[in-house]
Amino acid sequence: MNSARLRNTNVVVDLGALRHNIRAQKAALPAGSHIFGVVKADAYGNGMTQVAHVLSEEGVAGFCVALLDEGFTLRNAGLQETILVLGITPVQYAPLAAENGISLTVGSVDWLKEYQQVAQTNHVRQPLKVHLGLDTGMGRIGFQDVTEFKQALQLVQTPEFEFEGIFTHFATVDSADKTYFEHQLTKWKQFLAVVDHRPRYVHMANSATGLWHQQDIESNTVRMGISLYGCNPSGRELQPSFELQPVTSLITHATFVKKLHRGESVSYGATYTAQQDEWVATLPVGYADGYRRELTGYHVLVNGQVCDILGRICMDQMMIRLPHQMPVGTEAVLLGRSGDQEITATDLADQLGTINYEVLTGFGDRLARKYIDCQEEE
Ligand SMILES: *Cc1c(COP(=O)(O)O)cnc(C)c1O
Repeated sequence: MNSARLRNTNVVVDLGALRHNIRAQKAALPAGSHIFGVVKADAYGNGMTQVAHVLSEEGVAGFCVALLDEGFTLRNAGLQETILVLGITPVQYAPLAAENGISLTVGSVDWLKEYQQVAQTNHVRQPLKVHLGLDTGMGRIGFQDVTEFKQALQLVQTPEFEFEGIFTHFATVDSADKTYFEHQLTKWKQFLAVVDHRPRYVHMANSATGLWHQQDIESNTVRMGISLYGCNPSGRELQPSFELQPVTSLITHATFVKKLHRGESVSYGATYTAQQDEWVATLPVGYADGYRRELTGYHVLVNGQVCDILGRICMDQMMIRLPHQMPVGTEAVLLGRSGDQEITATDLADQLGTINYEVLTGFGDRLARKYIDCQEEE
């Protein structure tokens, strides 16, 4: 279904913070560097087209998405920048990318050869923009050996293609131990050494690389993902080298308030029983929204105060303990700031045994996104 507008519950996206984060990364890069805004997975849950328009105003060179369909969402929203699909696209759909100027990642000679056939059969006129993906140790997609890569370099000179980029992806840049990173860097240099004419975009940095390894790398473009949204890619292991402002909050309002009497229980399984009389609010958010059931026992913020979640989180609702009686409509912050208190995506991730990326991308479509600009208000 579409997002629900009539429930006073929003993923609130602070576009001022988004601008702050991209400007901070830009300021940390050498002059002439490019930024690709990574907006896959609905811009990590923040709304792909809205985020992309702001990044476009901030002068990004392009956008990265995971899937060709996501690329079309951006093109259809009128964005003119480079759009790179980071995953491997089934070759049968690649003519659509060529015709719409969407760039594809290629990781094998076989794919290039098959595309030449497909392009001829379909009479594709526009060359397909390609970025050759190099597997220097991530073990996911891309060329693994220099011989095959050399063949690919020949093939992308044919008229079916426009050779636009080369890139790799690091596996361990969010950790303090640099050993594996050095190993990947060595492989990257071996690949680069056989490229006579470098394409426009040479990129290897994700957020973590942009934050902690920018000086170590030979490239001209950063693929900025999680740090755009103000989250630390390492969780807590490393301190960001520039200030990241959280972009995403989850805010709801109490739909029901009651006094729970001593001995009365709350929610499925009746796992919580009041030890004394207390005020309880019901919030219209549950695990179907991506506020996961494992957060049972955690807390939310109300007027800058920590309020425990009581009993199990349901599919669409949950109960919290209020410090005293409060009216229906009282605001509750499930992610974000309230007074002096804050719950970050990393806090929720720690509670869930996951990473902040999964917290943000887990918020469901049913939650309406609301856009604010805190810096403009100031
Ligand atoms: C998702 C992704 C990124 C962005 O990573 P962040 O850690 O969010 O910056 C960059 N490059 C590739 C290849 C990706 O898949």
